[in-house]
Amino acid sequence: MAKARKIRAPRGMPDILPEAMPLTRLMEETAHRVFGLYGFEEIRTPLFEDTALFKRGIGESTDIVEKEMYTFVEGEDSITLRPEATACVVRAAVEHDLLKKRGFWKLYYVGPMFRKERPQAGRLRQFVQIGVEALGSADPSVDAETIILAAAYFKAIGLDNVKVKLNSIGCPGCRTTYRNVLKELFNGRRANLCEDCRSRYERNIFRILDCKQDACKAIAAEAPPMREYLDDACSSHFEDVIAMLREAGQEFVIDDHLVRGFDYYTRTVFELAHSSLGARDAICGGGRYDNLVAELGGPDAGCVGFAIGVVPTALALKNTVGACAATAVPVAVYVAAVNNDVRRDCLRITETLRHAGISADRDYENRSLKAQMRSANRLGARYTLVVGPDEVAAGAFKLKHMETGEEETLALENIVKRLCK
Ligand SMILES: [Zn+2]
Ligand SMILES: [Zn+2]
Repeated sequence: MAKARKIRAPRGMPDILPEAMPLTRLMEETAHRVFGLYGFEEIRTPLFEDTALFKRGIGESTDIVEKEMYTFVEGEDSITLRPEATACVVRAAVEHDLLKKRGFWKLYYVGPMFRKERPQAGRLRQFVQIGVEALGSADPSVDAETIILAAAYFKAIGLDNVKVKLNSIGCPGCRTTYRNVLKELFNGRRANLCEDCRSRYERNIFRILDCKQDACKAIAAEAPPMREYLDDACSSHFEDVIAMLREAGQEFVIDDHLVRGFDYYTRTVFELAHSSLGARDAICGGGRYDNLVAELGGPDAGCVGFAIGVVPTALALKNTVGACAATAVPVAVYVAAVNNDVRRDCLRITETLRHAGISADRDYENRSLKAQMRSANRLGARYTLVVGPDEVAAGAFKLKHMETGEEETLALENIVKRLCK
């Protein structure tokens, strides 16, 4: 029979193999723990949403909506795999009248997002984001606390040297003023901008400020800071955020060229970055979005949120802490049988250990003791427990520490006590 063709995962859609799971779990479980400490509650929304949600929520002229969405038409309906979660969380809050039930909500999510990015550039098309959304307050202390929470998250997973960049892009009123300033300033040099920025000039001129191309960077460097064009209300809001971060001892830098890629942001925008990642150094991005709830049919409600990219975060961790940062040992004890007569005893002993909360495994193929020891090594077992007819008769078993080679003969209940210490 001809060998069947292998089927591969879709391009840019990764499998997360068992070896990568400890790190993945560390990032996800830390989110549940740390966000819980700050009073955030988890929410889960569907992977698909009405396409109109993203067009209206993220903005028609953003890169994401223009070219990166997976959209499917079914009869009269158009649905899209979510490219980000903020619009989804707001949609859910509006649909279920959450803000009528309670004026202020702190929500978080963990889950996959989908964008049709170029896989040849190493970008993924399915990737997990971890994020929070605080809905229902325009108070600058919420901005400050959200930024502090993002920094606390990275500290909790063991990632040091995370840089917090902060800016304010004002309200739509401030932005109209600033947009005109930039249009005039860049007009004469449009031919020198990269292709993307030439089209950004018309549809989203602020994105020229954070373009990574050298030519665009040089032109953007001449732009005056957005801060100088904030009206009084936006300016004093920004000053308050800054003062509160200082008060809390949270380090940050003001980055005049930080604009973020979504249309919904107002006032505070921030990014957390890690220098080990090179030019694309962002591991978390967020900001305030005071108009989105109303734009999606809800009440006027100020909101702040951020999203953490699990892929760049894992990379930053590996770059600094090393790959073994979160290597959990999946098997603490390997239960080895000296012959086939004691297989059932092995099953019983393995179960006893597992019931006591000790991860344990054993051989399923009637292999020799030597082969079983090799398996124990491969699995990274911390101990082996050898079971033979004599041991079963005496009710005492040899527990061997795999790294030191130290051996001890103990009754099963004492082994449990020893390992649970
Ligand atoms: Zn303003
Ligand atoms: Zn550019």
